[in-house]
Amino acid sequence: MSTRVIAGDCIVRTGGRRETTQRGRVVVLVKPDDTVLVHDGDGYQPAAWLTRPAELTLEADPLWLVAVDGDESLQIEAEGPVTVTEHDTTDAGVPVGDCPCGGPLVRSGGAVTCLDCDDRFPLPGGAAVLDSACGDCGLPQIRVERGEAFEVCLDYECEALLAAVEARFDREWDCPMCGGDLEILRRGGLIAGCENYPDCETGFAVPDGTVAGECECELPRFDTGGGRRCLDAGCEA
Ligand SMILES: [Zn+2]
Ligand SMILES: [Zn+2]
Ligand SMILES: [Zn+2]
Ligand SMILES: [Zn+2]
Repeated sequence: MSTRVIAGDCIVRTGGRRETTQRGRVVVLVKPDDTVLVHDGDGYQPAAWLTRPAELTLEADPLWLVAVDGDESLQIEAEGPVTVTEHDTTDAGVPVGDCPCGGPLVRSGGAVTCLDCDDRFPLPGGAAVLDSACGDCGLPQIRVERGEAFEVCLDYECEALLAAVEARFDREWDCPMCGGDLEILRRGGLIAGCENYPDCETGFAVPDGTVAGECECELPRFDTGGGRRCLDAGCEA
């Protein structure tokens, strides 16, 4: 992902709801999603901007930038000396240790990404990234509650949460509709689904929490961040 930076004496024209022409020595950011932000020396707000335009044309020499989105447009032309540079940028996130490649890992937007090799690992809901490293691949381990607390590798391919939860809870609970066993399956997240599917379509998402006894309906009850609840989110017992 690269961010382009245009700096120098420019004419900036906006068209659409508000037509303006501005000239000044500005710094323009063109982000990887083509969002254009024109910053001048005044205050923190951009002097002009266009968010994720449908079309963007940028020629460096001579500078010619046109961004169009529906009725809105933004045009930038050089009036004096202007530089256009390209910078490699990444998501910014909370540092969570090191990748086996030696690069830093950061957590943002529900995933952990390496800033050097671009490896990306989606996190299961409610996961905490631990200081401990996986004995096989060296990535950090994560702690996830699905019935009880499991510590598995950040990399699903290396040590799957599914396998750990399956080993502990597969066929542990009975289907309230037909009495069959509930199997631990992965359908996006983890679910406890009836073994008699498709004859019986009973299935429950395994909550982010630990088992704390039994509900009156005989399914397990979970302690979660949001309080105590039945495996069946719709259970009224
Ligand atoms: Zn890496
Ligand atoms: Zn691993
Ligand atoms: Zn069933
Ligand atoms: Zn219940």
